[in-house]
Amino acid sequence: MKLILLGAPGAGKGTVAKLLTKMDGSVQISTGDILRGAVAAGTELGKQAEAAMKAGDLVSDDLIMGIMEERLKEDDCKAGYLLDGFPRTIPQAEALKVLLEKMGEKLDCAVEIDVPRDVILDRLTTRRTCTGCGEIYNVKSNPPAVEGKCDKCGEPVVQRDDETEEAISNRLNVYNDQTAPLVGFYKDEGLLLSVNATSSDAVIDAIKEKTERLMTVTQS
Ligand code: ADP
Ligand code: ZN
Repeated sequence: MKLILLGAPGAGKGTVAKLLTKMDGSVQISTGDILRGAVAAGTELGKQAEAAMKAGDLVSDDLIMGIMEERLKEDDCKAGYLLDGFPRTIPQAEALKVLLEKMGEKLDCAVEIDVPRDVILDRLTTRRTCTGCGEIYNVKSNPPAVEGKCDKCGEPVVQRDDETEEAISNRLNVYNDQTAPLVGFYKDEGLLLSVNATSSDAVIDAIKEKTERLMTVTQS
């Protein structure tokens, strides 16, 4: 399956993507994880992205398209992919469309995960992220067994730089202004699936139902 996951920060794109990859062997491609990795490693890309990320602003479309053109050509994408946090602007969505046409590939579906704003705010302020492997925790609902230490890799689990109250509110505004219009874009493309659910299991069920239907349509 080749899916796009749309939704505000904190809507659960990452969690849903991780669950889906376990089910069908596709890879999760998170531009946020790629960028955070580059910042941590101090690469040229990281240096270019750092300030915008810290403020909760978007990194330039050119930079992101450069990353994604390379990433989508890698072998592990052949089994399918889940795009988590990309595209994030109309120009990125248009550039992706051109890129996929060039590669002879087609998206199966763009999933919009729609979660109420108060739930999002609560999640983002209590979210913690592993600095080693990117695993996501929540201080209230899903803390690591040892405080501040990742269950999976043992590295520190921290609050992200862009998870201060100010940066969070900026990220939500950026989402409404620049990313929410993609819902209309993918609706026009006939690819949109909107899921109104706060539990990731419910989101997965809706995606499964839709993609199973898609597969039957393609097979017959
Ligand atoms: P979240 O979905 O929780 O806001 P991400 O991990 O997807 O966070 O992204 C973190 C930051 O990385 C964004 O606030 C932005 O600065 C940058 N970023 C990630 N993906 C993109 C993208 N497709 N276009 C522009 N900037 C991006
Ligand atoms: Zn970890």
